[in-house]
Amino acid sequence: MTVNLLDFDGESLTAWFAEQGEKPFRAKQVLRWIHRSGVADFDAMTDIAKSLREKLKAKAVVAPPAVVSDKLSDDGTRKFLIDVGNGNAVETVFIPEDDRGTLCISTQAGCALDCAFCSTGKQGFNRNLTVAEIIGQLWQANHALGAVHGDERVISNVVLMGMGEPLANFENSVAALKLMLDDNAYGLSRRRVTVSTSGLVPVMDRLGDECPVALAVSLHAPNDKLRDQIVPINQKYPLKELMAACQRYLDKAPRDFITFEYIMLDGINDTDAHARELLALVRSVHCKFNLIPFNPFPGSPFKRSPAERVRRFADILMQAGIVTTTRKTRGDDIDAACGQLAGQVQDKTKRTAGRVIPLKEARS
Ligand code: SF4
Repeated sequence: MTVNLLDFDGESLTAWFAEQGEKPFRAKQVLRWIHRSGVADFDAMTDIAKSLREKLKAKAVVAPPAVVSDKLSDDGTRKFLIDVGNGNAVETVFIPEDDRGTLCISTQAGCALDCAFCSTGKQGFNRNLTVAEIIGQLWQANHALGAVHGDERVISNVVLMGMGEPLANFENSVAALKLMLDDNAYGLSRRRVTVSTSGLVPVMDRLGDECPVALAVSLHAPNDKLRDQIVPINQKYPLKELMAACQRYLDKAPRDFITFEYIMLDGINDTDAHARELLALVRSVHCKFNLIPFNPFPGSPFKRSPAERVRRFADILMQAGIVTTTRKTRGDDIDAACGQLAGQVQDKTKRTAGRVIPLKEARS
């Protein structure tokens, strides 16, 4: 059976090479060709013996998922639609800034968690992405951005913050994270790789143990009553447990703070009283806040908080000494802004019967 070498992290590739009777340093060489040089053709791996190349051609492929479309926004944001088979497509977004280039990667086709404000959640859930489909987004973006030759690093930061809940696809997300951190693959710093979770408490502990990277938590509400409604996973892991998990994570994290993401929904979670309630909630967790102006999408019952409201909310947090940023709305003209990562998903939960856009229409 042919295997896709993009499905292996460094350790599992070495194990697979051992099964083929090959030495560990060969696996390292191939890993570097695939991920550092972006090479998919074994014949182009010039320092690999011809006999091994022939063996690899017979037993393996390097098969990234295909890019269906590639759109550039006026502000430089670039959105890739990635084909993940069976009529499903996910989105990957590159956000260039003065001092960094951030790639936002998807980990699931759709999402089962159904947060009330989220365009992805409204599409339902199809399946977990494979390691090849997750790391393949970085592989493809590097190609598209011309970053596979030379030393210049166009993508300096990666966030697992696209479609899906990364901790609900733990094994595959962690294998992809390990490749991002591996010096023989992408060599990114742990501090520049961020997992964003809606708060799967037991899996946050696992991440801290197995692959500690920077952590962002989608908080979005200062009390259980409201969070139960807009982030339904809260009914399973309420705020007290979530805050305790954040404290535990900080013991292992490469950064000394958690980033709390907070979407600003007009009249729902954006009052002065909500801000003060948040201060009491996060008292024991060293954190930063990232306020996200909501991006309305068709059928959504919410509105974006007015800019003045967002400023006032941020002021209350900052006056209490919490570093607070407000996310610039980027890529509006190509629907690449946060919460708009729609892609196309064949919903297996039947939550959205009749709303799926066939992939061939997306291509046209
Ligand atoms: S916000 Fe995240 S966890 Fe919630 S439905 Fe959307 S993708 Fe899923």
